[in-house]
Amino acid sequence: MRSLDFARDDRCIMNADAGKTKLVDSLDVERLRRDFPILDQTVYDGKALVYLDNAATSQKPEAVIDALVEYYTRYNANVHRALHYLGEQATARFEEARGKLARFIRAPSERNIAFTRGTTESINLVAYAWGRANVGKGDVILATGMEHHSNLVPWQILAREKGAELKLVPIQDDGTLDMESFASLLSSNVKLVAVTHMSNVLGTVNPVKEMAKAAHDAGALILVDAAQSVPHMAVDVAALDADFFAFSSHKMCGPTGAGVLYAREELLDAMNPFMGGGEMISKVNDDYSTWADLPYKFEAGTPNIADVIAFGVAADYLTDIGMDRIHEHEKALTAYTMARLEEIPDVRVFGHAPERGGAVSFAVGEIHPHDLSQYVDQQGIAIRAGHLCAQPLMRRLGVTAVSRASVYFYNTEDEIDRLADAVRKAQQFFGHG
Ligand code: PLP
Repeated sequence: MRSLDFARDDRCIMNADAGKTKLVDSLDVERLRRDFPILDQTVYDGKALVYLDNAATSQKPEAVIDALVEYYTRYNANVHRALHYLGEQATARFEEARGKLARFIRAPSERNIAFTRGTTESINLVAYAWGRANVGKGDVILATGMEHHSNLVPWQILAREKGAELKLVPIQDDGTLDMESFASLLSSNVKLVAVTHMSNVLGTVNPVKEMAKAAHDAGALILVDAAQSVPHMAVDVAALDADFFAFSSHKMCGPTGAGVLYAREELLDAMNPFMGGGEMISKVNDDYSTWADLPYKFEAGTPNIADVIAFGVAADYLTDIGMDRIHEHEKALTAYTMARLEEIPDVRVFGHAPERGGAVSFAVGEIHPHDLSQYVDQQGIAIRAGHLCAQPLMRRLGVTAVSRASVYFYNTEDEIDRLADAVRKAQQFFGHG
């Protein structure tokens, strides 16, 4: 595995190109980019690839790819059961990954960390295993108007099934939550507040610590959808006082098909299992079973061993770079992206929260986002277009779809310049702004 020491450049070089706001950058981005083989390629007729769809999924460094290959070539075996060398190796690495992820979000213990397939499964686990036992007729689940469908649809299903009500905290024009409405919606009937830490559309970073305190004061629990925050900023679940906290490996340099549900131990202890099967039991009688200790009670069947191990490697990789450095780089690059897009006539950027991350959604006059994304793709630039799994938010914004550029630590200002040029060319091509 590669050392990341070379990725650090503490000289903080200030570039002063004519008229450009350049990053005061403590990351040696060019060297980091060499860890990502996929970034070093041309597409179509020789255009250097620009990848700006990181909110959908991030690219993977060689260390993560190597970990997958190493598992399958050196110690592929099932975990927690085989009493042979390979099985012990696999189990040790798998459990090592749990420790790495626990430390990455500063969880008190590895017992708080259940591996899932990703954020969506983590949230569904809570909706099924906690929700069905704790939410009833007349109860309220309070989500927000900026939730990804993953943190909305499971609550809609639960509310329908139980005769409960799902209410949404409205959004203000700058893309922040209306905290006065939040306070007034927090009645004693609210059983759960379900909120995204960072919006995948607006980039808004929500005040989840403040919301957790208010939820707890009102006798409710809080679930934080951290799919977009954990990859981009240092988080401390204990300090945030989150009851449930969900995130995905693939958005933070790890493989697809792995994720985490963090929950407070008392909650996990009291919850029924989500799925039944092998490895989640203590004893199976003919007609009933008892459950395995935490967190195995929530990990039925053979887990996604290779991807979980590589997920742990991804957490190490990010830690070695430094989450604070990543966050600072992205803050500056996000400001640069917004400025470059907003100086183009007829471009509207959605989301101007004071605290925001690097998902920048925008509209370009009357050009349909799908047409725009296809056009910029022809220039070698990957962005996203569509409702971004947030249809209620699209209605609030008065659009059916948006275009989105989303940055990670390996993106550069030059790439943003190429995007801005491509948007201007698209305006000429489509004949209107
Ligand atoms: N929540 C947010 C805010 C997201 O952006 C996403 C994915 O884009 C998800 C949840 C779902 O994540 P996954 O598809 O990894 O389960």
